Amino acid sequence: MTTQESLAQAVAEGRAGERLWLYATYHCNLACSYCLTESHPRIVDRRTLSRETMLEAVAEAKALGFTCVGITGGEVFMLADFAETLRRITEMLPTVALTNATHVTERLLRRLEPLAGLDAALQISLDSDRPERNDALRGPQNFAKVVHAIPRLLERGIQVRIATTVADQSEEELERLCELHRRLGVPDEHHVVRAVVRRGRAELDGMGVELGADDVLPELTLTADGAFMHPFAPTVRNGRTDLDLLVSRQIAPLEAPVRRFLAIAAEQPVGDDVRRSIR
Ligand code: SF4
Repeated sequence: MTTQESLAQAVAEGRAGERLWLYATYHCNLACSYCLTESHPRIVDRRTLSRETMLEAVAEAKALGFTCVGITGGEVFMLADFAETLRRITEMLPTVALTNATHVTERLLRRLEPLAGLDAALQISLDSDRPERNDALRGPQNFAKVVHAIPRLLERGIQVRIATTVADQSEEELERLCELHRRLGVPDEHHVVRAVVRRGRAELDGMGVELGADDVLPELTLTADGAFMHPFAPTVRNGRTDLDLLVSRQIAPLEAPVRRFLAIAAEQPVGDDVRRSIR
């Protein structure tokens, strides 16, 4: 069976996803309390994927049958040329890029304008409708910057999703947050809510929910450290990347980690009734 056929079969059986994830960098301008990757402004080892590495990986992924891309970190816009990189990736496959949206200046908005009309979305973190509650988790002025950025992105035709990480928010607080994102122009189907995953720094701090073996759909995830089983795998604690869910150190050519990934995913349970608690 070819790699393309094996991937298609794994996707059809619900053992693997058809999205390729890229950890663009572990560098970030924020230092959120629950950050799974210990990202922060003064991080020494930024573990950045070059533009060429990301473009080549996505081109290969498309040829192998992956149908979409997710880009995360760290903060993707810490990379000076990320707007251009995102456009070029999106011209190959539909892409969602996760961002804290604190860099959305007029200059960046102009650089993002070519994304309008393309199948690209920015997934922006927002954890509460109350500035002080949100900023306690994510840093000073975060709420104000995000609420300022979202309508400006939407005005320019750029798709926006909101991602909420649940720590101790009440049902009422989450409902108020939904009212807020609707007012900002983001519909319910573009609001992602998930728990803090107990890995990396969150595990050291005893935060979040334990990750069971079947809780996350395997989705091949590339970092500067290697390829991993899913985007919650390459977490960091005490400055070191967790390697328990490493697929391979090799990330190029992409077919090599894909084959190893599919061999591991072959052990995943099959069927529509497999419960994946974290997305
Ligand atoms: S959670 Fe996201 S925004 Fe916060 S420090 Fe980590 S990478 Fe940066």
